[in-house]
Amino acid sequence: MFEKILIANRGEIALRILRAAKELGVATVAVHSTADADAMHVKLADESVCIGPPSATDSYLNIPALISACEITGADAVHPGYGFLSENARFAEVLEDHNIAFIGPKPEHIRIMGDKIEAKKTARRLGIPCVPGSDGGITDDDEAMRVANDIGYPVLVKAAAGGGGRGMKVARTQADLSNALSSARQEAKSAFGDDAVYLEKYLEKPRHIEIQVIGDGRGNAVHLGERDCSLQRRHQKVWEEGPSPALNLEQREKIGMTVAKAMQDLKYLGVGTVEFLYENDEFYFIEMNTRIQVEHPVTEMITGIDLVNEQIKVAAGGILPFTQADIKIDGHAIECRVNAEHPTNFRPSPGLITYFHPPGGLGVRVDSAVYQGYRIPPHYDSLVGKLIVHGRNRTECLMRLRRSLDEFVVDGIDTTLPLFRTLVRNQDVLNGDYDIHWLENFLKDSAVSE
Ligand code: ADP
Repeated sequence: MFEKILIANRGEIALRILRAAKELGVATVAVHSTADADAMHVKLADESVCIGPPSATDSYLNIPALISACEITGADAVHPGYGFLSENARFAEVLEDHNIAFIGPKPEHIRIMGDKIEAKKTARRLGIPCVPGSDGGITDDDEAMRVANDIGYPVLVKAAAGGGGRGMKVARTQADLSNALSSARQEAKSAFGDDAVYLEKYLEKPRHIEIQVIGDGRGNAVHLGERDCSLQRRHQKVWEEGPSPALNLEQREKIGMTVAKAMQDLKYLGVGTVEFLYENDEFYFIEMNTRIQVEHPVTEMITGIDLVNEQIKVAAGGILPFTQADIKIDGHAIECRVNAEHPTNFRPSPGLITYFHPPGGLGVRVDSAVYQGYRIPPHYDSLVGKLIVHGRNRTECLMRLRRSLDEFVVDGIDTTLPLFRTLVRNQDVLNGDYDIHWLENFLKDSAVSE
């Protein structure tokens, strides 16, 4: 096992990793920007190092500063969390060169999955079903037209380097296609410095369903069921739940086993998530995230497995301590991402938290790094915390979520708590009857009726 883990992140995920490390008896190092000197992860870590000014480029993304922090403190492993450097293969390699372990997959797997065109090719080779589309990148308009005619309109132009829903454009007819191509290319170039794009069939009413996996890099890998993350705003997940209200046991087993087998063949190391769109009983691979995800607690609540603890153990060379037969899905869990944003216009609302009272009780978990008197800095994402609720079934879970949301008080800033209080009472949400466009449409309609 590692002796000292440096956590190259901030906010709730830094705290989450710190908790797992402490329970493993491993010492922890927090790093922080000057804007985060008062952050909870800094207060709770055994040691802390300031790695730069507020701008993430100069601090949390500053590889030389992170390596120096490891050397000063003698950390022998780095946990990157999510975002920042978590899917940066180069960072993993630089750490390796300095004899510091990267708590994450092998660099080659990060690289393949970071390029969506390569990822799709790999998925197809491993027997994972994909969205019909171009075999590789699209370089000219004529080729795009041929592919689009083949798969049928509407089509979606997507950035190979994509992330966060950027560089994505729909073309409903041939007349839209060349515009969609050039604007997707432009957006991809400015967001990722890479203008490679590809084409996919645009699915009209899919759900977003993703499979959690873990492997030990030696060919042992299992799936831990799915999460349904269809409730999204601007391609960002807002509410995640597991199991998906849309799947039955047989469908779950089938897609889960396909993914687990693919991860065994790949000799995948660490935790990961294989993301699908699901429409008319068919799964279509869209991407794989090679890191711990924001919504991982949903899976922890229904499997009883501490994913970060297991992630650290396999990174340290451990053999996966369970087989597929050991994984049991128990009850239902829902996560709400509570943001420091206005609940209807979503304007960011950083600032001083004057009062903070999280809910509690059986089956209720709040993963948050804020506290009363904490000032949310304006430089980073707007996550205040995640409320995760477990019940023996979906109905119990929804009732528990409703009462937990009613207990939750955050004063001093705007939060999206009122949005969740509305959602948890909405008939479509209660019925589990929603697709990836449901929330956007709901927000549009409620803005009109306000
Ligand atoms: P990113 O990495 O930018 O988040 P993804 O490929 O994961 O991109 O897609 C993000 C979201 O975009 C999906 O959750 C879904 O809402 C939408 N999307 C992606 N591909 C398609 C498609 N082929 N048809 C319809 N919607 C799609």
